[in-house]
Amino acid sequence: MASVNTLCKSVPNVKNTVIKNCNLYSDKNGVKHIRIQARPNKWHENDCPFCHKSCPVYDKHSSRPTIWRGLDWGGILVEVEYQTHRLICPEHGVYVAEVPWAYPGSRFIKDFDLTVAWFASYLPRSTTSYFMRVDWETVGRCVNRVLHNLEPERSRRLDGLVNIGIDETSYKKGHKYITVIVNHDTNTVVWASEGYGKSVLEKFYKQLPPEHLSEKQQLRVNLIASQNPRLYRAYLLKEQLRLLLKLTNVDEAEDELKRWLWKASHSRIPAFKELYQKIRRHKTHILNTIRYGMSNARIEATNNRLSSLSVKLMASETYKICLIWCTLYALIYAFHFLTES
Ligand SMILES: [Zn+2]
Repeated sequence: MASVNTLCKSVPNVKNTVIKNCNLYSDKNGVKHIRIQARPNKWHENDCPFCHKSCPVYDKHSSRPTIWRGLDWGGILVEVEYQTHRLICPEHGVYVAEVPWAYPGSRFIKDFDLTVAWFASYLPRSTTSYFMRVDWETVGRCVNRVLHNLEPERSRRLDGLVNIGIDETSYKKGHKYITVIVNHDTNTVVWASEGYGKSVLEKFYKQLPPEHLSEKQQLRVNLIASQNPRLYRAYLLKEQLRLLLKLTNVDEAEDELKRWLWKASHSRIPAFKELYQKIRRHKTHILNTIRYGMSNARIEATNNRLSSLSVKLMASETYKICLIWCTLYALIYAFHFLTES
């Protein structure tokens, strides 16, 4: 038969935890509680909740214990009890020491937070709150903690974006709008903001890294910026064109293209002057490509896409656009090459 200790250990469901005691009692409302007294083992009792390093103790253990709620056991409320203390991390400052069974700042054990987050992704918030016996706002806090744990750096979502979809939906009976950007390759939402239209999209594009450059590449770009302003200008022009081709709204694209053409024609860079003339000549075709939603998948410079694109475009007798795209790809490759070598 499993011992009480083993059973209690399975509640927090984490390593580095020692069970001290366990009680079953009914509160004044007649609700049954299982109260488990636990503590982190001695190797982890002074861990910083952020960097998880062992740190010097800042003050004594609190006189009143902290209670974390666990997942109910049948109809019985399960709780974990421990007297916390603070420590001083050289990097993060004074914080309550980490407990292995809960996320920092949470009054629920990890499995509870995870369960609420799972429910919330399938059920309405009110149902989740009712079933889990927590209030409505707590559901949001649980979801946030889980999200932060799964994805500590949310901005990394924008790394490696190739194909995106933009959707504008209204809520509050059409009085408010929200713009949602989806990564088509992973089928996940990568960005959302209130409002719609150009200003919101600009906000999104500003958050995008200039390109997915490695640290080394970024250093080279910085070097180019300081030592070869003309080459750097060319790099920026190429970047602007790359982002422009990601636009899905044809009016915005037209404005941007006009601006880009002006910059290219005044760039005093022969390669761009040539490209300027080509792009100006085929402006209508390019805008049509964007208008009919053909741009998204085609902007990324991969060999496979390029060859299949050529075939498709040739077949539809728009080989002139194809030539432009090819020039563009060649240019993009040239810059990849420059920043890499
Ligand atoms: Zn720390």
